Amino acid sequence: MRKLYIFDTTLRDGEQSLGITLNINEKLEIARQLVKLGVDIIEAGFPASSPGDMDSVRTIARKIKGAVICGLSRAVEKDIDCCAEALREAEQPRIHTGIAVSPVHMEKKLRLSPQQVVETAAAAVKHAKKYVSDVEFYAEDAFRSEPAFLVKVLERVIDAGATVVNIPDTVGYATPWQYAELVSFVMDNVKNIGSTVVSTHCHNDLGMATANSLAGIKAGVSQVEGTINGIGERAGNTSLEEVIMAVYSQQGLYGVEMGVRTREISATSRLVSIITGVPVPSHKAIVGANAFMHASGIHQDGILKEKNTYEIIDPEIVGVPKNMIVLSARSGRHALKHRLVELGYKLEQSDLDTVYKNFLRLADRKREIFDEDLHALMGYTGKENDGISIKNISVATNGVSTATATVTVELNDKTITDAACGNGPVDAVFKAIDRIMGKSIILEDFNLYSVSKGSEAIGNAIVKVRCGNNGLVVGRGVSTDVIEASGKAYVNALSKIK
Ligand SMILES: [Zn+2]
Repeated sequence: MRKLYIFDTTLRDGEQSLGITLNINEKLEIARQLVKLGVDIIEAGFPASSPGDMDSVRTIARKIKGAVICGLSRAVEKDIDCCAEALREAEQPRIHTGIAVSPVHMEKKLRLSPQQVVETAAAAVKHAKKYVSDVEFYAEDAFRSEPAFLVKVLERVIDAGATVVNIPDTVGYATPWQYAELVSFVMDNVKNIGSTVVSTHCHNDLGMATANSLAGIKAGVSQVEGTINGIGERAGNTSLEEVIMAVYSQQGLYGVEMGVRTREISATSRLVSIITGVPVPSHKAIVGANAFMHASGIHQDGILKEKNTYEIIDPEIVGVPKNMIVLSARSGRHALKHRLVELGYKLEQSDLDTVYKNFLRLADRKREIFDEDLHALMGYTGKENDGISIKNISVATNGVSTATATVTVELNDKTITDAACGNGPVDAVFKAIDRIMGKSIILEDFNLYSVSKGSEAIGNAIVKVRCGNNGLVVGRGVSTDVIEASGKAYVNALSKIK
């Protein structure tokens, strides 16, 4: 069996596409979880794209051990210099450089002749090799390139020292058999291919990213690139959790082995969703809330007689505990801790005290506490709200759409109250908070959805705001009261704006 390397680009392809700016603590939290999941390579960012990205790649390179840390760069010397600088303290650094190889990209975007592209590609790899031994080359838009030309480029970059060559379907145009055919063509015709790892990088424009990646693995690639929950440019990237579980379920078919801890999949998906503010659809494969639910009578009957009738994956394998446990205000500290541990949370005693307090507050308002509620509770601990918290909100509505909100906020140990009118209660709350903070905030997006079922369900609010030169910042708040959840989310976002 050959080893299949899992290359995660949630923090690069994923973040880049969302238009949001995750702060360094958020990126570190995701990177740490990716190490727990056991991915082999973490693409941490594109250092030359902004000073912020440079900083975060540098910090991840310094602090995250146990995976290759990779930075993206164009085939441009100063990009590569930047990337090398950001990766200087990495335990296992990798520079990922490359250039487009399809006729349309070379002619219209790069305005370079094919020969110039070959020379630029080889020169970039050589330059990167001066800094690190592990250099990956991406042949952008490889799927729409002339296969014979692709072979020529790959031979040259491998000669120049590329340790990995990536054959992306950048625009998500391939079907699985076509993609497999291209990979086979590369395997059969690139003379020096034996000395490198070949990689897939597929986009989901036609809903085939996972299928194409699997076709690539079957055709011989040893590295697969993707993101958690499939977030990424346009229709998204390959969902790593889908590829991992497809391979896991039929390992013999692919003839590869992975070093992934599948039980961390569920926690990783949840963390990425919480931090990016991108909800996971309930029907999403592997990580959707309904992925392991059997609703129809016939299916339930089958499952009760023999699980294998309708269940291809034991939910516990991806970290979803089997038995349903419902907690309530009568549940003690021990029961809460026990369930949280089953759900994959590790708790210090001091954390448990805070969590238990929040749990009781929630149980006061909501009789039954489900796993989803606990995840919401754990995802929003309030500790990330640097010095700002909401003490009280009261709203008076007059007529259908106008409302007045009075909000009390504790800001750096001072208690401040202010009021504002708005177009509906949530708008009034946000405006009152704006007045307290004295900042001019642009609300770009606001979403509210319920975490579990029933009228008592927890509301999960996600806001995206912009302030001055800061990028888009995501804030999240949960509460059984939707207005409070919204206010908390808004304050959470503001606390991230420096
Ligand atoms: Zn991509």
